[in-house]
Parts: sequence; C-alpha cells; structure tokens
Amino acid sequence: MDTIDMTIHGLHQALESKQLSSVEATKAMLARIEAVEPQVGSFITVTPEQALAGAEAADRRIAAGDMDILTGVPLALKDIFLTEGIRTTCGSRILDNFIPPYSATSWEKLRDRGAVLLGKLNQDEFAMGSSNESSAFGVCRNPWDTTRIPGGSSGGSAAAIAARQATATLGTDTGGSIRQPASHCGCVGLKPTYGRVSRYGVIAYASSLDQVGPLTRDVTDCAIMLGALAGYDPKDSTSVDLAVPDYVATLPNGVKGLRIGLPREYFIAGLDADVQKAMDAAIETYRRLGAEFVDISLPHTDYAVATYYLIATAEASSNLARYEGVRFGHRSANAEGLIDMMTKSRSEGFGAEVKRRIMLGTYALSSGYYDAYYVKAQKVRTLIMNDFIKAFADVDVMLTPVAPTPAFKIGEKVNDPLQMYLSDIFTIPVNLAGTCAMSLPAGFSTDGLPIGVQLIGRPFGEEAILRAGYAFEQATEWHRASANL
Ligand code: GLN
Repeated sequence: MDTIDMTIHGLHQALESKQLSSVEATKAMLARIEAVEPQVGSFITVTPEQALAGAEAADRRIAAGDMDILTGVPLALKDIFLTEGIRTTCGSRILDNFIPPYSATSWEKLRDRGAVLLGKLNQDEFAMGSSNESSAFGVCRNPWDTTRIPGGSSGGSAAAIAARQATATLGTDTGGSIRQPASHCGCVGLKPTYGRVSRYGVIAYASSLDQVGPLTRDVTDCAIMLGALAGYDPKDSTSVDLAVPDYVATLPNGVKGLRIGLPREYFIAGLDADVQKAMDAAIETYRRLGAEFVDISLPHTDYAVATYYLIATAEASSNLARYEGVRFGHRSANAEGLIDMMTKSRSEGFGAEVKRRIMLGTYALSSGYYDAYYVKAQKVRTLIMNDFIKAFADVDVMLTPVAPTPAFKIGEKVNDPLQMYLSDIFTIPVNLAGTCAMSLPAGFSTDGLPIGVQLIGRPFGEEAILRAGYAFEQATEWHRASANL
C-alpha cells in the first residue's frame, strides 16, 4: 500500500516492522502536500523542517524500542491549535503574524508520543462557518469535487485526509465543525463530550461549546487518537477528571442488542434524497448486525439553530475582545491615538463573517436585550439538554444524518448566511447538550460525493459510538473509497 493511503495502525505496523522509516513516511506526505496543494488548499502553513526533525527523533525512538502507536505518524492540525514557535492564524488576518509562545495541550500530548507535525490546516476564520469560505487564507476545495466546499469550519482538516496529505488531523467542533466536514469529505470525525479533551491552547470561539477531536481514515484510528487526547488537564478547568477507557480494546464488541434511537425530528421533509438513502441503508445494516431501533423524540430540535447562534455569537463577542492590536496580532499602521488604533486594527483584521457575529453577540448581550435573547437562549439550551437526557433513558446511541445535503458548491451559500446556518441543524444540538457524536462514511450521492451518518452517544459514552461505528465499518466498504485526485 502507498504510504499516503495508510491508516495510523497500518503505518504503525510498517514502522514497527522496519519496512518504512518515519523520515520516509514524512517525506512521502510532504511530497504529496506539494503535489496536490494547488488543487486543494488544505494548508495555511506547511512545516517541513519541524516535520523532518520530528521524524528523525521518532526514528531514533523506534530504533531504541521506545515506540508508541503514534510514534513517527505524520499529522496536521487545524490552525486554531497554538503551536510554540509556529505561526498560528486561526484563519484570520488579525493573527497573520502571530507566533505563539506555548502549545495546546492536545498537540503536546500527541507530540510527546512521537507524532510528527506536517503543518497547520485551513479553516473558517475563528472557526465561524460551515464551508471554509470565511478563511482569510484562500479557498479550500473538496478533494472529491474541487468545485465544492470541503465543509467547515475544520475544512482543511477533512480535505487533508481525503487528499491523502496527512495520516490523521485534529479539528475543533463548536456546532458541527468536525462532523460536517468529515461527512462531506468521506472521513471519520469525532466530537468528544464537553470536558473529555482539554481546550487549553485552543483559540476560543464559544467556550461553553468548543471541543477538540480527531479526523481520521477509519474508526480504529479515531479510537487511537481519542485515547491519546482524552483526559484531565489542570490547565483547563472545564476538563473532567474521569478515567480514559481503552477505546481500541472495546471496538470489536459488536452491536447485538444495542438500542439505537431514531429522533423523528431529524427526518425532515427537506432532507436530500441521497442522504435519506444512505440513512436507510445504514439502518438496514445495523438491523442485520443485531441492533434494535427505537423511535424517539427530541422535541426542542426546532429551536437549536436559533439558540446556538445566540449563545455562540455572545461568547464569541466576548472571546474576541482580546484582539485589539495591543498585545499581539495585527496593529493598524495608520491610526491616531489608542481608540482609533483599536478600532482600525479590528476593522482591518477581522473578516465580514466574524464582524457579523461580534455584532450579533454584542447585541444579544446588551442591556435591555440580555434577558430577551441571551438568558432565553440559555433556558432553551437546558430544554434541549433535557431532551437528550430523557431520550437516552431508553436508548444507548442515536443514529441521524450529519448534514441535510452533501457538499454544496463553492459560492452557493456564501451570500445567504441564514441558509448556511440552517445547514448545521443536525450537529448543533449535540454541542448544546454537551454530549459526544461521530460522523461515519455511509455512502455516496448520485454525483459521487461522500455522505456521512452521525452516531450520537451519552455524555462520556464515546466507547459506545466508536464500537457501533466499528461494527458498521466492518460491514461496509465506504471508508475504503478514496478521492480521485
Ligand atoms: N457552522 C457553525 C458555526 O459557524 C459551527 C462551527 C464550528 O463548529 N466551529 O458556528
């Protein structure tokens, strides 16, 4: 098998048996990045020197018999993860020249196990978007059809896997940003339970919703990555001190008797026919594997998008107040006095979508409107959370679509933010409820575009969705298909 096609576990075997060195694997990935970047645009920054130094260090570890499953594996990170000494832009002009003085815990954990950093991936500006089109660093294209979006906001993270530019990647998910691009690019993407993975050193968008998670070629890789990322971090007070299970060990346990809920609110009239077909086929597969289906209801689903876009913008308006040109980031060159400098730095540094959200969020938090919008949204969030708690009394996992349609055309929704926001309908409720979910390759549209299905788990129930995902993957071939690029 070609190095660029390998999974983490496949590459690990090749490294362990000395068929391949990490330097060779890393060079193969760097060559692939160079070859296809002009067509894809997954990367904001490629880091060949760091990659080769990391690969050499990994090869020394391997030679010394000090090897972990991630040692020598070439990875790439969404440009929202702080990386010490390496430019980190978060997809924004305002951080164009920002070199962080420290690294995100999630990257440190992978690096300490010997993972190799290929570079920093394209994304929507400050992770605001569903198409990667709000990036200040150019379009990222879907490797399956380069006239289409890869999804967002972790568009580069999904496109890099589909274009075989990295063995696995990290993304973040505030309202669907791991699962939706994974679905559009035919990879596996998991949003862990809020608190499962440290957010330390991850540039904040909406702090009560943001979570870090992996995008991978298959479910086994996803379990490997989650196992490496999960766990308590004293530097993130919202990370939870719960033992990390061995996610790989329980993968083969099967789904016999597993109770799978089908939330009726997710099977709406506007659902694309190809997405419906993939859902029907997935249900059939799980039935055959011995799972039981239960019709359930999440009655407040209709309010999820509005609730999310109030809470997320409110938190963003507060989080993004720190970019004022004083301590770091872009500072306007033609300003007079402090206020003018801050205003101009922000006006020049932020893109249109980020400005829209800062204005929406500031409005929702302003006195006089705070109760009507922000407090109301928090109350509805509790109702949505309770919907999930009630439904999970009866089922082990839920199965739903990830997005109402396959990847849309570049430019199609960019001038219609409401349409763009509505496409998050199936992913947003999971973030509001704080629980975990995974996107899994489950078919193709008549145009040959990948379609994913979503498994939603109980809080800290990642084991169950990974196990159910693995059973599905063993019974299907979807994850083996690769983009013709
Ligand atoms: N599309 C959603 C938004 O624009 C979700 C983004 C995300 O999960 N970071 O906010």
